[in-house]
Amino acid sequence: MTGEILPGSTLGILGSGQLGRMLALEARAMGYRVGTLSPDVDSPTGQVADTAVISSYDDLDAVARFARSVDVVTFEFENVSSAAAETAAQFAPVRPAGKVLHIAQNRSREKRFLLDEGFPVTPFAQVTNLAELEAGLKVVGCPAVLKTAGLGYDGKGQVRISSPEEAPAAWERLGSSVGVLEAFVRFEKEISVVAARGLDGSFAHYGVFENRHRNHVLDLTLAPGEVKSSVAVQAVQIVSGILAALEVVGVLCVELFVEEGGGLLVNELAPRPHNSGHLTVNASTTSQFEQQLRAVCGLPLGSTQQLRPAAMANLLGDLWEEGEPDWAAAAAVPGVSLHLYGKARARPGRKMGHLTALAETLPEAEARVLEARAALIR
Ligand code: AMP
Repeated sequence: MTGEILPGSTLGILGSGQLGRMLALEARAMGYRVGTLSPDVDSPTGQVADTAVISSYDDLDAVARFARSVDVVTFEFENVSSAAAETAAQFAPVRPAGKVLHIAQNRSREKRFLLDEGFPVTPFAQVTNLAELEAGLKVVGCPAVLKTAGLGYDGKGQVRISSPEEAPAAWERLGSSVGVLEAFVRFEKEISVVAARGLDGSFAHYGVFENRHRNHVLDLTLAPGEVKSSVAVQAVQIVSGILAALEVVGVLCVELFVEEGGGLLVNELAPRPHNSGHLTVNASTTSQFEQQLRAVCGLPLGSTQQLRPAAMANLLGDLWEEGEPDWAAAAAVPGVSLHLYGKARARPGRKMGHLTALAETLPEAEARVLEARAALIR
């Protein structure tokens, strides 16, 4: 393979949250240097990187200087502007390319792309004013979910609409000029597939993960997800098609709804490692972060074999309400590992860390991770 970026080179990460931190840790383990650029001081990624540039993503001179100082640029969240991605691309390969970011950072563009490419998506309508919202409700029906088109994640910027009369209040609450109205899906399960595409077009995936959300935020992931094998095969086919259509070089996660009866609908794309893939750090031969590193550096993709059943539970800032959680109690549960992101302040709803449990069976892994999380509260 040509164009390999080998150990000893410097990986540049735009963004500095926990995804960048876990990527940086893998990169350092493989002998790479790591630089990060973000507006945040003492960030989860900055704490473990070789260099941390503190800058707005809109400071294109800083982005250009950063790109010149590294051998490849990737990102750990998708809300970097196209201008920043294009600027970086003048000085270093940007993987995945800016066009992937551009599509994935806007729900409306993302859904339009999926529809045009023939992938199954939840019925939706783009709405830019109340009249369009009212017209959209007639098309998608009630109940429906109104979401902001840009900068929405983890259920932020979402309003549920139960009847057409609620439209004016919902539009007011959205507080955004562009929204996407979606039919409310009565799904049986939520799943995700984390996958990677190499520089040479090779494809690897981690199979189906089952995800449970609380207040629209991921709470628990179980792997392997329990779905019919025909559903798993179809999910992987969809995901492989999406990575190929977007010509992704890197890791991309697809979140899907499994409808009653086994139909699949794509809910969302994340063009990077994903919260539901955190358990690969402990459970798989190659973690999703090592896979991202391999992909963006033009190395062969690693084995995605899962070594044992695994469960991951998120640790949100709410756990700190009664003081510092009891880490020793959680660590005492067999098969459990603790991951903390180095965030100084715990706020309710903020992702502070996660626990992963491995066991002989999936129910055992789930029981262990829940036991460990419960043990954190004194
Ligand atoms: P999102 O930010 O779009 O991933 O949404 C966060 C969570 O809200 C999803 O994981 C679902 O649990 C729920 N949700 C989002 N959109 C819908 C929908 N159209 N129908 C039902 N539930 C939804």
